[in-house]
Amino acid sequence: MDWIRLTKSGKDLTGLKGRLVEVTEDELAKHNKKEDCWICIRGFVYNVTPYMEYHPGGEDELMKAAGTDGTDLFDQVHRWVNYESMLKECLVGRMAVKPIAAPKEISSTLSEEKKQLNGMLSEKGVLGASTKDVMLSYDWFQTDSLITIVIYTKQKDLNAELVIVDCQDKRLRGEIIIDDHSYLVEVDLYHAVQEDLAVNITEKVGKVEIILKKNDNIHWKMLGQPLENHNTFIKRTDRGQFYRKCKLVSKTEVTHDTKLFCLMLPKSTHLHVPTGQHVYLKQIIAGTEVVKPYTPVLPFLPLDFKEPSCHDGAHIYLMIKIYSCGPFTQALEHLQVGDYISVSNPEGNFKKSQVQTSEDLFLLAAGTGFTPMVKLLDFALTEVSCLRTVKLIFFNKTEDDILWRNQLEQLALKDKRFEVKFILSQPTKDWMGKEGKISSSLLSEFVKRSSKYSKVLICICGPTPFTEQGVQYLKDLGYSQEEIHAFTA
Ligand code: FAD
Ligand code: NAD
Repeated sequence: MDWIRLTKSGKDLTGLKGRLVEVTEDELAKHNKKEDCWICIRGFVYNVTPYMEYHPGGEDELMKAAGTDGTDLFDQVHRWVNYESMLKECLVGRMAVKPIAAPKEISSTLSEEKKQLNGMLSEKGVLGASTKDVMLSYDWFQTDSLITIVIYTKQKDLNAELVIVDCQDKRLRGEIIIDDHSYLVEVDLYHAVQEDLAVNITEKVGKVEIILKKNDNIHWKMLGQPLENHNTFIKRTDRGQFYRKCKLVSKTEVTHDTKLFCLMLPKSTHLHVPTGQHVYLKQIIAGTEVVKPYTPVLPFLPLDFKEPSCHDGAHIYLMIKIYSCGPFTQALEHLQVGDYISVSNPEGNFKKSQVQTSEDLFLLAAGTGFTPMVKLLDFALTEVSCLRTVKLIFFNKTEDDILWRNQLEQLALKDKRFEVKFILSQPTKDWMGKEGKISSSLLSEFVKRSSKYSKVLICICGPTPFTEQGVQYLKDLGYSQEEIHAFTA
């Protein structure tokens, strides 16, 4: 907030009195000191000296990119941060020689197609985008009332989590995730369509159908106008974040400071957030776009882990701790039922396959670091037959801070494979349970293989020092990197 106030004070933060300059690589390299520090991000150069003291990661982190192109470093650490908005008053100018853009790993036929069709997508025009190993294409057809877009991925094991579709104001966006790449169909539709859409996935052959309902039963001459990223197949990290507005339908208390927010996706969105992944929420705070990550949970812990839980696909549940001095969560606290908030596509590097072969699963959670464990517990106890033990070690400050304590205790009574331990760092005198913070001795007491050679997965999530210390202690205790998954941004 102090930074936002400074940017709005009218102070000259670039030292260039509002002028924008073209910056050569040599010039950029000269500005490599704390008191004169320029950094290039995606071709734009910022004077970050005035921002140094406000950078949450500290000055040294910023200095790693001083006088250079910091795009990769920025993407590694906090790709979601809207630096354009945060640093707009620090903009010095553009790089004189445009840095080479990330290669588009596609052989798109779109430009040729564009020429032939005057930019419009004709019916039955099969287009393709490919890398060496993957060839994707799409097609479309219509009936009197429907438009169907078919995407052929030729990938086995395609599922609903890998297909994200949005249709807003005639703008159709269909994204297919294939490993760390994404294929996009993005079109300004020829005519308006109704709000609800359907997505059918034929897993065995990797075919996706997006079915739109025409507003008027007229014949479409074209599917529409291709948009900039239409028919591209590129690394997911090279795609900009996409947001849709979701309606807050309820806000219920979980503990004294934590609430469960239920958001409803638009009818024209198909989105399932995979286990272990998070989304970003975006709000305008004091005139600046601010983005923070949150990990969707279930509405409650299912106690009967027999059938895979049926997630209705229409709602996203977020368990969020409200900090009295946290600008973002304070803004969330002030959201009223019926208000809208922007929600991004999912991100995260957790893979369910890590659990699928495990016999012992240990979940080390601190505070709201419990959130990724909710879907993980559900998945593990429902769908992983080789699991013998699932143990949650849940670190909190006080008893009042424990999230879903009742539900966890009930689950432990119901399912013999599941055990929960609560460890408090600031207990009251009458706390009979374990006390302390994460430590080598606590971990050696609670994290033990059920047999000498059993396959173990240990997942850890919480405040950064908790996670970092935990990983180090686990390694010191002899667990390998492959046996540990740390949830981070
Ligand atoms: P901030 O201003 O960021 O800080 C709030 C409080 O924490 C303040 O008291 C501040 O002094 C203190 N603080 C901030 N940073 C630090 C620090 N580095 N060290 C010590 N104290 C600090 N939160 C949830 O509630 N639910 C979730 O599901 C969830 N999922 C997340 C998923 C990911 C991948 C990540 C990285 C974070 C997640 N978070 C989640 C945290 C969330 O993104 C925000 O950081 C949080 O809501 C605080 O935002 P804020 O702007 O309100 O407060
Ligand atoms: P909190 O301050 O209430 O602390 C909960 C427990 O964490 C404490 O009782 C203590 O045992 C431990 N802890 C706290 N600070 C520690 C430290 N410096 N060293 C060792 N242990 C420490 O926690 P909170 O306010 O609920 O914060 C939860 C954190 O989890 C946030 O930082 C949030 O960003 C993070 N989080 C991350 C993800 C993710 O990366 N996927 C998801 C959800 C939450």
